[in-house]
Amino acid sequence: MLDIALSGIHHVTAICGDPQRNIDFYTGILGLRLVKVTVNFDDPSSYHFYYGDATGSPGTLLTFFAWPNSQTGIHAAPQATAVAFVTSKNSVGDWKTYLAKHGVAVSDIQVRFGQQLISFSDPDGLTIEIIEDCTPEHSKAFMESGLPETTLLYGIHSVTLTEHNDDLTLKYLSEVMGLTEIGHENGRTRMSLGDSSAGRYVDVVVDTSQARGRIARGNIHHVAFRTPDQDEQLLWKERVKSYGAHVSDVMERCYFQSIYYREPGGVLFEIATDTPGMEFDQSYQNLGTALCLPPWLEVNRTAIEQIVVPITYPEPLSEN
Ligand code: ZN
Repeated sequence: MLDIALSGIHHVTAICGDPQRNIDFYTGILGLRLVKVTVNFDDPSSYHFYYGDATGSPGTLLTFFAWPNSQTGIHAAPQATAVAFVTSKNSVGDWKTYLAKHGVAVSDIQVRFGQQLISFSDPDGLTIEIIEDCTPEHSKAFMESGLPETTLLYGIHSVTLTEHNDDLTLKYLSEVMGLTEIGHENGRTRMSLGDSSAGRYVDVVVDTSQARGRIARGNIHHVAFRTPDQDEQLLWKERVKSYGAHVSDVMERCYFQSIYYREPGGVLFEIATDTPGMEFDQSYQNLGTALCLPPWLEVNRTAIEQIVVPITYPEPLSEN
């Protein structure tokens, strides 16, 4: 047993094209809350959107770098190739009907590890899955989304890693990162971590073709895991380094602090702190309703606002 433990998936970050189309899909159709509009801190000319539950809790966050001129990505190993959200038991059929009504091409209902799921693509080609799970204890789903309570999304269920060979990745997830293998079915190995109701599973599948992925529009850029605070994050930094990976310095992301490294298969991982969270620079009611910049980029606000494509922001939530 490790004396430190990752408590789940923190967020998944992907790449989209048209910013407004991305917002319309994730808020208007999937009913997530846009909890933060900022820029990519490493490339402030592009937006960074965060979607999640009502407060943008770790474990519920899907984020996007908006690169309107990006070419389309190639979905192949080594890459995270799908992100799945949790919905209530017995509501996958309702989701299928609802998405079809909104013009989304959706798969037949499948069963994976005993749970029903559907799969579809977002407007940029990113694979999204919706999986039934036991009644979520999670109570912070975005009730104001306009969707019926039974078909709310309660955070991330799992992420799928597609690898050329899964041996080293499975060993690494288990021995270095402390995940536990809980099942193997149809070429898919499920690893679990943490005990919260969201962000609990990493699935690993093998792509035996020689195709190599290209991370661009419609792809997942990286997968972030949760650590409670910076003290534990530094322990992770040492641990990852001691197993031979190149690990970044601690990066200030304002809503959390981050370190980055690649797992042996090649997928980019991050370990992010749970704190301070999305209310760092906006109140609960105002999350996502204006462009937030980190303090060191405020001096460039006018220039940034002229570069990024204008978007329609959500209205603040009412106080009651
Ligand atoms: Zn990240």
